[in-house]
Amino acid sequence: MPLIAEIFTSPVDPSAPRADPYGPNWYSVNPYGNFYYLGPGQTHPALHTGDDLTYWPGGPAHKPIYAIGNGRVIYCQRVKNADGSWSSWGNVIVIEHVRPDGSKVYSRYAHEEDFLVELNDLVLRGQPIAHVGNAYGRFAYHLHFDVSLTNVLKVRPWDWPGTDQDRLYRDYVNPTRFLQENGMATDQDKLKAVRDSLSGALEIVNGMLAAPQPTPAPAIKQATVIADPSMNVRAGPGTTFADIGDAFKGERYNVKDAEGAAGWVVIVDGPKAGGYLSKQYLSFQ
Ligand SMILES: [Zn+2]
Repeated sequence: MPLIAEIFTSPVDPSAPRADPYGPNWYSVNPYGNFYYLGPGQTHPALHTGDDLTYWPGGPAHKPIYAIGNGRVIYCQRVKNADGSWSSWGNVIVIEHVRPDGSKVYSRYAHEEDFLVELNDLVLRGQPIAHVGNAYGRFAYHLHFDVSLTNVLKVRPWDWPGTDQDRLYRDYVNPTRFLQENGMATDQDKLKAVRDSLSGALEIVNGMLAAPQPTPAPAIKQATVIADPSMNVRAGPGTTFADIGDAFKGERYNVKDAEGAAGWVVIVDGPKAGGYLSKQYLSFQ
């Protein structure tokens, strides 16, 4: 059974609010869809597939990278080019996440300086998976992070559409927006869910949202007869009610407080259910 991913949080600050999913100190210096030049001499034009995340103050070097959701590691290695040379990707992790509806999300983390997970590991949201690196000196320290809703990263973990805008929009989503839409619910969101689920059964009291208070049922407790040798079981809560039987010393009864009669309890089950007992001849543990 796969781990289900319902919520997705920041790869660099899992406690960040969904509205600002990377947190207050992280910045995307190369946002999704940005046209830029990549590589030595800045000669390779590309549309950015995700966010390049850096940290201020102090820089992002060696900071932990976290799984954005529950899932399984489906790629975890230093990438090689077709000719066997090392790729400028450096180290790459791809995690496959299965959502409650069975659809899949793929998250990719690149240029790490190490791996804290292995291929096929199951990971939990917020679990550290690596540390921010620089792709073996190819780039400034940063985390390249992107999200795909197609299987392109399963087939080609090193996928890079370059300047192909159709491919970009088909295979990658804006990771900032994805986290904003799928992040941890805020208190405001939770309040809305409660309000929706109780639709109409709520009232606003002094500006606060309040559910109607159900009347609590009287607690059932156990009573032991201490009268020696017995006590009367009565038809109502008082000595003027008819004597309908006897309860003997040491017998135990499940009882609850009698409404409107502080000194009396009513038996809730058994052959004498409905009979009343005076509390002064009972012991309650
Ligand atoms: Zn990047």
